[in-house]
Amino acid sequence: MQTGEDERKPLTILVIEDHPDQRDLLAIVLQREGYRVVTAGNGLEAMEKLQKENVQIALSDIMMPKMDGFELIKSIRSDPALKGIYMILITARIQEGDRVRGLDLGADDYITKPFSFSELLARVRVGSRVVHYQQNLEYQTQTDPLTGLFNRRAFERKIAEEFERATRYNHPASVLLLDIDNFKNINDTYGHHGGDAALVKISAILRERTRRSDFPARYGGEEFVLILPETDQESALQVANKIHEEIRSQTFGTSTSPFALTVSIGLSSTSTKDYADWRQMLEDADQAMYVAKNSGKDRVQVCLPQGKNGLTQTSVHA
Ligand code: GH3
Ligand code: MG
Ligand code: MG
Ligand code: MG
Repeated sequence: MQTGEDERKPLTILVIEDHPDQRDLLAIVLQREGYRVVTAGNGLEAMEKLQKENVQIALSDIMMPKMDGFELIKSIRSDPALKGIYMILITARIQEGDRVRGLDLGADDYITKPFSFSELLARVRVGSRVVHYQQNLEYQTQTDPLTGLFNRRAFERKIAEEFERATRYNHPASVLLLDIDNFKNINDTYGHHGGDAALVKISAILRERTRRSDFPARYGGEEFVLILPETDQESALQVANKIHEEIRSQTFGTSTSPFALTVSIGLSSTSTKDYADWRQMLEDADQAMYVAKNSGKDRVQVCLPQGKNGLTQTSVHA
């Protein structure tokens, strides 16, 4: 995923009901409305399905063998990856006690058997609105409005995840920090609007010239970061050089007042140093950037754990 775009795919609903005929009927009714439907016969099966499927709404019976609806709510609400699921309980019991218990355990809504399909669908539509509202909120908190790239908050979340995965499975991961050279001059010469347009164009290059599994983000101002999962330092250097060259070869500005831009890139990788946490790795990329700037800008600088300042210059295009 390269941006936090809200793609508005059809929502997936998990129907949990031990009675096969009722389960199938619910599935058909929901599918006819355009929802993607997955099913489970009890709470345990539901938890298994939730490991594999990306579910937004769960419609669950209460009385079921193995794991009932109440236990299922508890399991879903205590799992960080699942707790945002919108849960509607279905119960044959009309007792107020069950409804109160379900809501107190974290259900969002309930429907009491027997119900009409039009009422059920209306409640599912309420759930869809809540899910879309949450998705939009999530998108906005993760996205930089100018460039559409992930923002610093999203970057920090992602690099923490990737770093954790890389160290647990002993896989490499690398990070690039990219800073536009002399950007203040660009603003001074071509106006803030010209500067903004250049930021947008560089973002597009970062998105288009990287793999789908890579993670470009706007770190702040005229600084960008690129997380490269499953990538060792050598390959990360190739990516950095490619991006460096690509930006250099582009024309920015308008046809009447075109200009060129260069960037400095600092790079660090788990493949050449054992980091205790991702902040250290980012700090090394930042240090490498600092050296790149001080040795003339417009270059890629790799952080290596040897040398006088721990850094070795590897690529110069000045
Ligand atoms: P260096 O080569 O050392 O990186 O110099 P620089 O001029 O790029 O760096 P400096 O930190 O001095 O200035 C960064 C400039 O980036 C100043 C600031 O106005 C500009 N900037 C930051 N955010 C934005 C933005 O969103 N839009 C525009 N147009 N400019 C921005
Ligand atoms: Mg039942
Ligand atoms: Mg800067
Ligand atoms: Mg700069």
